[in-house]
Parts: sequence; structure tokens; C-alpha cells
Amino acid sequence: MLLSGEEGTEQEVTMATKNQGFQAVVELCDNCGRETSHEVSVQIRTESKKKENAEFSREPYRVTKCQTCGETNSQRMNNA
Ligand SMILES: [Zn+2]
Repeated sequence: MLLSGEEGTEQEVTMATKNQGFQAVVELCDNCGRETSHEVSVQIRTESKKKENAEFSREPYRVTKCQTCGETNSQRMNNA
């Protein structure tokens, strides 16, 4: 029984797990003034604008961090 094929699959799984949590994408950085590699992640932020409102709205934000200058930008994903 040959296991070489399975070993190859196992390596791919390990690499995929390593990159879990964020993606690296090339986007324009305003601070750098050019396209740089950005670390992209999604954060759930709790918004509580009204004190009377007991219910907090949890909004997903797309957060990008420039790998060159460290500038971070967050953009709300729900524009409703
Ligand atoms: Zn930058």
C-alpha cells in the first residue's frame, strides 16, 4: 500500500491551517501611496450609540493592515 499520495495531501492541509484567520491581498494603501500587501481579517465590533438601547448591534468589519507601513483601515461590511 502506497502512502505517498496521502502524505502530499497532509502537507496541503497543514499549509491551509497556517494561513487561517487572515488573507494577504494587494491593495492600494493611502499612506504608502501605492499598492502594497495587506493582511485582511474580519472583526465583529459591538456598537452602542444609544445608551437607552440595551441591545447592542454587532457589525462585521473588514479590517486591512498594510504590511509595509502598518496602517490599518476598517470598513463596515453591512452597508444597509
Ligand atoms: Zn502602507
